[in-house]
Formats: sequence, C-alpha cells, structure tokens
Amino acid sequence: MDPEERLNLGSHLSVAGGAWKALDEAIELELTSLQIFTKNASRWVQKPIDPAAIEKWHAGRARWEEGAPSPRRVVSHTSYLINLGSPKDELFEKSCAALTDELARAGQLGLHGVVQHPGAHVGSGVEAGIARIAEGARRALDATEGGPKLLLENTAGAGSTIGRTFEELRDLVAQIDRPGRVAVCLDTCHLYASGYDLRDADAYAATMTELEAHLDLSLVECWHLNDSRGELGSNLDRHEHIGEGRIGVEGFRLLLDDPRFHGVPKILETAKEDDGDRRNLAVLRALVEA
Ligand SMILES: [Zn+2]
Repeated sequence: MDPEERLNLGSHLSVAGGAWKALDEAIELELTSLQIFTKNASRWVQKPIDPAAIEKWHAGRARWEEGAPSPRRVVSHTSYLINLGSPKDELFEKSCAALTDELARAGQLGLHGVVQHPGAHVGSGVEAGIARIAEGARRALDATEGGPKLLLENTAGAGSTIGRTFEELRDLVAQIDRPGRVAVCLDTCHLYASGYDLRDADAYAATMTELEAHLDLSLVECWHLNDSRGELGSNLDRHEHIGEGRIGVEGFRLLLDDPRFHGVPKILETAKEDDGDRRNLAVLRALVEA
C-alpha cells in the first residue's frame, strides 16, 4: 500500500462558498480522506443541493483523486440537532426525516458514509434508547436504499448519550440489522473521555482487545483523530490538538502504526486557528517517519 494511503489522513474541512472548496483545500493539505457537512449543522432543514454545485463537486473530486492508487473515502457529519434516541415522538420523527435527508445529500455527492452520534435516551433508559435509535436508523436507511453507509460514532459519554461503550455500538449495529449499510467511526477523544485508555502500548493493547471482543474490526471504517482536553473517563467532549492533550503523541503513534487500521480514513476534528490542520498533520506524519 502507498504510504500516504496507508496512513490515510484527512480533516473536517469547511464547505463555505461551496462543497468543492473543501476538495481544493484537501489537495493543498495533501489529504487522502475528508469529512464535510452537506448542510448547516445547526439547522433542521435546508434547500436541496444545487445541481451546478453537485457538478462542481464531482469535478473537484476528479482533480483530488487524479493519480490516486485507490478510490478515496469522503464522509459527511450529520447535524447536531438530530436525536434518534428521543422518547418524544415529534423530535424522533424530525430526526428520522433529517437523517434521511443527510443520507440523500451524501448520496448525491457520492460519499462513502454519514457519521452520526447515535443519540441520547433522555431518561428512557439505554435499552429503550438503543431500540429507538435502531428503528430510526433503519427507517432512514431503507428510505435511501443503495445509498451511503451510516457510520455510528462512539461518544464521550456525557449525559444520557448512547454509544459510549463498544457493547453499546455492537448492540446498535445488531439491532439496526442492515449489514453493509452500517459501520462505526471511532473518535480517539471520545474513547479516552469515556474511559478507554490509549496512552501507552499496554493501555492501547487492552483497549483494542476490548474493541475486538465486541466488534468486527472491519466495521471500523473511519477514525476521528483528536487529542482530549478532559481526563480519562471524564466524559468531557473537548478536542485538543494532537499531542497537546491528555492522550499524547504515543497513543496516536500506536494507532497510526497499527496494521489493523492501515488504509482506514483518520480524520482530524481539531481547531483550525493558527494553521491548526497543517500543524497537526505535520505531527502525525512525523510520528510514522520516526
Ligand atoms: Zn468525532
């Protein structure tokens, strides 16, 4: 495998001014994977993507992928408003419709998948929450047959959020019961905040043993690379620059070196100020060259 493709670094890039602009930035940053929003993440509804914008996107993609040894994965991240776990019917219905729209938009752009925080049970309990999320996810997937995958992201474990453990992710995948349409996106900050240590070889190995005990590793189709501002098990969802948080560079070196995840997109969601992407990418690339 080509070393850059094996590493497969990406970032969540802005689509201000048009989604294709993210592709130009991806070329500039030499990224081989990418995450975007396909709509404003803090709004429920938005007008459909303009056909001209879809064309520009595909042209930009051809530019970005020119000469690439293999097709590249682009994912979108869903709106933060969606909660498929809500016991309230109105919010649940709105969430189902919004996820269906997210999958349809991602499909128009030919994206690999849609990353989504599973949801929160808001007092109804984990079991009821998982069943509710599974029902909503199934509905959205069935309404977009043949479309992008739903990538369930693990959470930092704050409040009543579901997906804080590998067991919960396993139960969600099983209950959604749409093999081939559901996979998992693991966020290093969220793992650490929910109590999975990654800081050194022993801790990393123990976390991966735990992961493999509950989930088929082929289901891990995306990583989010974020260091953590909060302590181990703090349930705090605060992303930090790579190596500047509680996880530290060694945890990221272990992950990048792990052949089980070679070729899987590893996407930054860290702050953009002061050339943040460039700095974090340099740190990550230096780790595998060392
Ligand atoms: Zn994330």
